[in-house]
Amino acid sequence: MYLQDLATRGSRLVDQQEVAAFIVQDTAGATSCLLWPHTANTRSEHYLGAIPAGTVALAHTHPLFAEHPSKGDVAESKRLHLPIYVITRWNLYVTDPQSGQHVALIANKNWVRNVARHECALIK
Ligand SMILES: [Zn+2]
Repeated sequence: MYLQDLATRGSRLVDQQEVAAFIVQDTAGATSCLLWPHTANTRSEHYLGAIPAGTVALAHTHPLFAEHPSKGDVAESKRLHLPIYVITRWNLYVTDPQSGQHVALIANKNWVRNVARHECALIK
């Protein structure tokens, strides 16, 4: 699962750095995960290029103490009309771009893998 790959990558970062990716679906319905180039910024990954065709969601990690989607995440979700997955070691939330609400898909469960399995590829 792509989101678990991101959770595992995020858990290995220090100093509140984040990992971010697009979840993309091709015309045949297959999904893939495109990692944003890592900037090593603290709590703010940025992607300045165009959103890839077929993007169905955004996903990024948060530090443990900020498990919920931020106000900025909710605003971005509404603006792009895309759900945003917010990932920490213990929780997974997804925003609803219509309502701005978010729901927990994983709650209080360590879902980070011990062994990394890389399913997300760096965006080209
Ligand atoms: Zn966020």
